[in-house]
Amino acid sequence: MSGQHSELGSTQSACIRCLAPMEPSDRYCRNCGMEAASEEAKTETYLAQILPDRVDALLEKRFKEQKIIEIETTELISEKAIKC
Ligand SMILES: [Zn+2]
Repeated sequence: MSGQHSELGSTQSACIRCLAPMEPSDRYCRNCGMEAASEEAKTETYLAQILPDRVDALLEKRFKEQKIIEIETTELISEKAIKC
């Protein structure tokens, strides 16, 4: 191990496939044989789980904001058209 995080201490790791608890010294899951996840792989798995929701929420927010701008612009244009 290259000791990238030496202060992790009590962090319990789990198999990314079957979620069986794994000892930090286990290279492979004792339950399903999945290779132990590196911190990067765990982060990727976590992001893959939360990102779709975040992106959906963000897109929905953007879409709503854009709709409001569109409506405001349309109102401005129609106001000007009435005045001219
Ligand atoms: Zn497993």
